[in-house]
Amino acid sequence: PERVFSGVQPTGNLHLGNYLGAIVKFVELQRTHDCIYCVVDLHAITVPQKPEELKASIREVTAAFIASGVDPKQHIIFNQSQVAEHAELAWVFNCVARIGWLNRMTQFKEKAGKDRENASVGLYAYPCLMAADILLYRATHVPVGEDQKQHLELARDVAQKFNLDFAASIAANGFGEAFFPLPEPLIQGPATRVMSLRDGAKKMSKSDPSDYSRINLSDDADAIAQKVRKAKTDPEPLPSEVEGLAARPEADNLVGIFAALNGQTKPEVLSAFGGGQFSAFKSALVDLAVAKIGPIGAEMKRLTADAAYIDSVLADGAARARVIAKDNMAAVKDILGFVR
Ligand code: ATP
Ligand code: MG
Repeated sequence: PERVFSGVQPTGNLHLGNYLGAIVKFVELQRTHDCIYCVVDLHAITVPQKPEELKASIREVTAAFIASGVDPKQHIIFNQSQVAEHAELAWVFNCVARIGWLNRMTQFKEKAGKDRENASVGLYAYPCLMAADILLYRATHVPVGEDQKQHLELARDVAQKFNLDFAASIAANGFGEAFFPLPEPLIQGPATRVMSLRDGAKKMSKSDPSDYSRINLSDDADAIAQKVRKAKTDPEPLPSEVEGLAARPEADNLVGIFAALNGQTKPEVLSAFGGGQFSAFKSALVDLAVAKIGPIGAEMKRLTADAAYIDSVLADGAARARVIAKDNMAAVKDILGFVR
C-alpha cells in the first residue's frame, strides 16, 4: 500500500514556500493516500532553539496543517519527539549511511556556514534522522520542496543499503526481498522552490533576517500587500512565453507563485498577464494571495489560541503513529540480530 510521510520543522515563520512546496501537497494527497504529517521538533534542535518559542512553533505548525485542510482524524498529525522510535531508527541509520554520503549534503554546508567545526553533530546527521522519519513508517511517497531532493536521495540510498546488507536476515525473518521501500519524492508544480521576494537567487526561508523576503502564513492582508508591492522585479513588462522568464529569476518566482496559488501553470498565467506591466500583475497577485493565505492565517490564530486542542491532536496522532513505529522498529531489531 502507498503511504505518504512528510515533515515541517517548528522553527518559526512558516512561509509561502512551506505552503506551496509542501503543505498544499499534503492536503491534495489525503484523497488518495494514507498520510502521516510530522512536526519535526527533533530536527529543529539541530540549531539552537529557545524552549518557549519551540513550544509555540510546534503548535503553530500543527495549526498550519489543520488550517490548510489536513484532517487529523482521517490522517495522522503528530510531533516527532513523542515517538521515540524516530531517534532509535536514526541511530541505526547513522551506522548504515557513510560519512562520504553526508559530506556531500549541500544543506549542511549552507546551514553550518564558515564555522563548520562549531556546527552540531545533529545538523550533520540530520539526513539520517530524516531517512528514519520516512522509513520508520515504510512510507512510499514524500511530498517536499526542491531543496529536500538531495536528502530524499540519501534516504533511498540508506533504504537500499539496509536492504542489501541485511538481505539474508530480511528473508529469514519473513520479510521477503526488501524490508524498506525506496521512497519517492513528490516534487511537482510551478512552486517547488519559492525564492526570496528580495533576492531571486535565494530560497524563501524561515531564517532570512528580512521579513520582506517572505510571506508568512500568519501575515494579514496589509502585510501581504506591502510585501508583494515591494517585491524585487526588473523594469521589463512580463513576457508572453515562459522562455522569456529564463534570465529573470524575480519575475519567474512571482509568476510561479501566482500559478501555484491559482492552480494554474506558468504559461497560463503568462497568457493572461504577458506584455502587461508588473504593477497590474502585482495587484492581481496581492488579491490572490490575500484570498488564499489570509483565511489560513486567521484560522491558525483561532486554533493556536486553544493549546489544549492542538496538544490533544498531537497526542492522538502520536499514539496512532507509535503503533506503526513500534511494529517496524521491532522488525528492524530482529533483522539486525538484537535480542528483545
Ligand atoms: P529552515 O530554514 O528551518 O530549514 P524551511 O523554510 O526550509 O526552514 P523546513 O521545515 O526545513 O522549512 O521545510 C519544510 C518543507 O517546506 C520542506 O518540504 C521543504 O522542502 C519545503 N520548503 C522550504 N522552503 C521552501 C521554498 N522556499 N520553496 C518550496 N518549498 C520549500
Ligand atoms: Mg529547510
